[in-house]
Amino acid sequence: MTAAQVAGIDVGGTGIKAVLADRTGQLLGGATRIATPRPGPDIARRTADAVASLLDTLRASATGPLRAVGVVVPGLVDEARAVGVFSENLGWRDAPFGELLAERLDLPVAFGHDVRAGGLAEARLGAGRGKGDSVFLPIGTGISAALHLDGRPYPAGGYAGEIGHTDVGHGEPCVCGAAGCLEAIASASAIARRYTRRSGRAVGGAAEVLALRAAGDADAAAVWAEAVSALVTGLAWLAGVLAPRTVIVGGGLAGAGTALLEPLARQLADRLTFQRVPELVPAALGDQAGCRGAALLAWDTTC
Ligand SMILES: [Zn+2]
Repeated sequence: MTAAQVAGIDVGGTGIKAVLADRTGQLLGGATRIATPRPGPDIARRTADAVASLLDTLRASATGPLRAVGVVVPGLVDEARAVGVFSENLGWRDAPFGELLAERLDLPVAFGHDVRAGGLAEARLGAGRGKGDSVFLPIGTGISAALHLDGRPYPAGGYAGEIGHTDVGHGEPCVCGAAGCLEAIASASAIARRYTRRSGRAVGGAAEVLALRAAGDADAAAVWAEAVSALVTGLAWLAGVLAPRTVIVGGGLAGAGTALLEPLARQLADRLTFQRVPELVPAALGDQAGCRGAALLAWDTTC
């Protein structure tokens, strides 16, 4: 007898990724991917069409009956209403994905947020497994956090975890309209942008800044040190307010490995006094965290 399975689909900035998973969250085969529709008129409808066509492709490769599908999207997401409230990158506002997907898919649909789904997958299947309350902190183009407390995600209507837009005191403007945001100094894109501004030298990304720092470049060292210090401030707030046992660092910047985690952990331990010092661990599921989390959501909420 073939095992029942669900599909997990993650709508990203450039691609839509999908996987099939069994009831324990284990993958059945590899990931399937198509391009994300370009922003413009009817973007929500065109995105739902793309998800439906990707599901058809997946179904052709499924070895057992598909029970449900989980779909996660970026931006501000209201899971309870199944609405994509706002995505600057993908260009939608108040997109009724629950309705649009129900019209197109003949399966129960669970709808959620990409980073929170990634946090769920890391907490249950990845780096946070068996490690208690956790915060998943992807650091890439932006910085956000997914809170997993008392064994479940804590979304707060979509508003929880926006640690990238808290003021860590440097005064630089941020894309959100505020100044001093963590994201504006410590995201992978901010590190590259700030290095270029300071040194006059164009770089391909934060990894190049890290390589320049290792080669003795003083500007790279300064920009990297400022980013680490700002991240320590954000982590100290998390430790004070939520006291997570584990912080799972993901996103592009986590590729720096111990060059990032070691100074973060050391400076955080120095900064805290009586607070519980969280264990910092690298994310384990890479860019599949979102679709694996979407599959878990499908099991949790529809089966
Ligand atoms: Zn901001």
